Amino acid sequence: MDMNILKSIPKIDELLKSPQMTRAITNYGKTVVVNCARMITEEKRNAMVTGDRTELIDPEKLVDQIEERIYRESRMSLRPVINATGIILHTNLGRAILSETAAQAVYDIARNYSTLEYNCATGERGSRYSHIDDLLGKLCSCESALVVNNNAAAVLLILNTLAKDQEVIVSRGELVEIGGAFRVPEVMEQSNSILVEVGTTNKTRIRDYEAAIHFEKTAVLLKVHTSNYKIMGFTEDVSLHELAELGRKNDIPVVYDLGSGAFFKAGEYHLSDEPNITDSLNSGIDVISFSGDKLLGGPQAGIIVGKKKYIDMMKKNPLTRAIRVDKMTLAALEATLRLYFDMNLAEKEIPILSKLLISQDELLKKAEQLLALLENIPTLTATIIEDFGQVGGGSMPNQMIPSVCVAVETTLFSVNAIDKQLHQSEIPIIGRINKNRYLLDLRTIESKDLGYIAKELKKIVE
Ligand SMILES: *Cc1c(COP(=O)(O)O)cnc(C)c1O
Repeated sequence: MDMNILKSIPKIDELLKSPQMTRAITNYGKTVVVNCARMITEEKRNAMVTGDRTELIDPEKLVDQIEERIYRESRMSLRPVINATGIILHTNLGRAILSETAAQAVYDIARNYSTLEYNCATGERGSRYSHIDDLLGKLCSCESALVVNNNAAAVLLILNTLAKDQEVIVSRGELVEIGGAFRVPEVMEQSNSILVEVGTTNKTRIRDYEAAIHFEKTAVLLKVHTSNYKIMGFTEDVSLHELAELGRKNDIPVVYDLGSGAFFKAGEYHLSDEPNITDSLNSGIDVISFSGDKLLGGPQAGIIVGKKKYIDMMKKNPLTRAIRVDKMTLAALEATLRLYFDMNLAEKEIPILSKLLISQDELLKKAEQLLALLENIPTLTATIIEDFGQVGGGSMPNQMIPSVCVAVETTLFSVNAIDKQLHQSEIPIIGRINKNRYLLDLRTIESKDLGYIAKELKKIVE
């Protein structure tokens, strides 16, 4: 090896004197800059030793590379992406996105002291749950409400409070696993309640529950919405009314895990099979729970609503403290719930709702806009096609929503390579591949991002 090439690597101290590095130190701090300079020079040295590199170092290029590395090392790991998958509630991409109003509320509460647990009227200590208690009461006519970290925690708290060391009756057809980690039998075990399965996988009748009720042993009748699967064919399950009636007769609380839970009628949103929060309560169920960041379109949270006497018991359970919600969650949730007082406003402001409701015509218009931006890019062909998106988030697996996509191909590389390269964009673009076509689904893409997508596609083929 020619020792001169090793000597061409500048000393770290010298590198740091360049105007670019001085600026980087101001912006990112000296430690990061020095570390990155070491990393890059070390890589060059190693390449020289192994013989992979035989040419001298150009100090200017080296500084550019260090700058690039500093940028990559200091950028946030958790950062925004463009969802072009057509899956509205994409679990891996953060499920629901907040409305502008809710995001602003989070910002205000994060950056200021707040009334979190302070009652300004009396000057005394308040409750963090008071901010949503009244709102939920007005929205779904429940007696009381409680919010915890997520719906899994909500179910855990409900069972631990109402059925510790006692029996919970559930239909065999509802022992679901959701998202790999939420399994009804395991949550039940963690809550220290005893699972009593009734019926069969496809059929459970009211008399199955009835026969399993044991005086002083049965603490809860539980119904779980089978969010992510559907049993077809000869099936039978018990209606909410019947179950509520049975609970009332035996003085046993009836609990319903709704999973997603919607304030709107699913049918009016071209969706089927998604239980409505108010209807569930009206059918006489004592306690229901649902997620904040599925169809509600709010922050991650587990919302519990129902009879005051049961919710008061939960508030006193020490477990509540361990799974309590943060002020930012409460801010986002309160702002989201307030939008629901006017459905027109909710549909306009809450991204999940507007994405469910957007018409084929509007989608087509967006697709044409994107197509226009992709015109005259060498080797790139883009076509509009009709395809299907999904709700996602463990909601409505059978529910495919007709959508409009732009299919993109290039003569330069495969669709997999397009996909991979777009994942590397500054703002990663996550599309989907279907039948060997790379698709950008307009339902989940924001109009403001069309220009960026076109720019990045142009970049990768150049
Ligand atoms: C999604 C879901 C859960 C889990 O809710 P998280 O908010 O993700 O904790 C529990 N039960 C049902 C039926 C669900 O659909």
